[in-house]
Amino acid sequence: MSTSLPDPSTQRPRPGQLTFAAPRRGKPPQHLADLAPAERKAAVEALGHKGFRAKQLSAHYFERLVDSPEEMTDLPKAIRDELVAGLLPQLITPVRTVTADEGATVKSVWRLHDGALVESVTMRYPNRVTICVSSQAGCGMNCPFCATGQEGLTRNMSTAEIVEQVVAAARSLRCGEVAGGSEDAPLRVSNVVFMGMGEALANYKAAIGAIRRLTDKAPDGLGMSARGITMSTVGLVPGIDKLAAEGIPVTLALSLHAPDDELRNELVPINTRWKVDEALDAAYRYFEATGRRVSIEYALIKDINDHAWRADLLGDKLNARGRGWVHVNPIPLNPTPGSKWTASRKGVEQQFVERLRAHGIPTTIRDTRGSEIDGACGQLAAATA
Ligand code: SAH
Repeated sequence: MSTSLPDPSTQRPRPGQLTFAAPRRGKPPQHLADLAPAERKAAVEALGHKGFRAKQLSAHYFERLVDSPEEMTDLPKAIRDELVAGLLPQLITPVRTVTADEGATVKSVWRLHDGALVESVTMRYPNRVTICVSSQAGCGMNCPFCATGQEGLTRNMSTAEIVEQVVAAARSLRCGEVAGGSEDAPLRVSNVVFMGMGEALANYKAAIGAIRRLTDKAPDGLGMSARGITMSTVGLVPGIDKLAAEGIPVTLALSLHAPDDELRNELVPINTRWKVDEALDAAYRYFEATGRRVSIEYALIKDINDHAWRADLLGDKLNARGRGWVHVNPIPLNPTPGSKWTASRKGVEQQFVERLRAHGIPTTIRDTRGSEIDGACGQLAAATA
């Protein structure tokens, strides 16, 4: 119930304070998407039904994107409600949607079973559709320029709560609720980025479960390509190494934001545990293990981290580890409530990019889709919206 939510005003973290353990709260109900295929069969049998019903339910959910009993005409009427109640409970309820870019960007605010609020953002481009998902309600990493970080950590999300955001986006695409794109482009979610609320690697089990559901072939999962999935992290080194060993080559994005420890300690407080060099070494190991080019995220903050010497230091540190393993994605800082910082001036931004390119580092500025609806990087703060 929403009355049991912590009062954000009393839960705000102190500057630099890190929170790893999520507060214990009632678990969300179990859902098909929490379970691997064999576990689904067992769960259906535990409800007293034939094991093959699990496959039928999976096909409804992951292929047809259906979770209402009325549409499951291949299941006997008498057992539909029970199976759906037991394995396809509604985990996320829409609170509101806001659109931008003439309907091609849609921010959705969701209420979870216990009243916690999270957000996801669907962005349609000419030939792809990207959904940015939340993996935690709030975040414990406390980066001072990020609205989510300022709210603290409410709780971890379950695997199915993460997957539900993608399935909901896929459904709304099919229903024509996201504008744009070319007529003949297939209407499916091609990219999922773990860049909504939360630090997914701090909720590792649920996050890797979601990645498996997204990449497992239909009808066991959504059948997405691992290449289309990006895991973004503040630099939890053990989590990066664990992910590298999973054998699912998703793209890794490291939120660096500064090439020197002194500044990064302030901008990304996890740096007090794992330093710039340790995070970059882990990112390089990830590249070696997966062959996937790593992405370095760098929010450009006026007069804070946008100096030419910092671009040079970053270029040197990346090149010291190898060539062709990394690219840099500067993000013009998006405004957040109460933040004293602003985006770098355009000329400074351009110079930063050119400096990196002069070091031979591929560098592309990230578009700031959704900033006017508080749906861009670092602006998701539904917990108090
Ligand atoms: N916890 C993950 C996902 C965070 S959101 C992580 O830290 O990587 C994705 C990216 O947006 C991160 O690189 C994050 O640092 C960045 N970001 C946060 N606040 C921002 C802001 N106000 N402007 C621009 N980028 C921001």
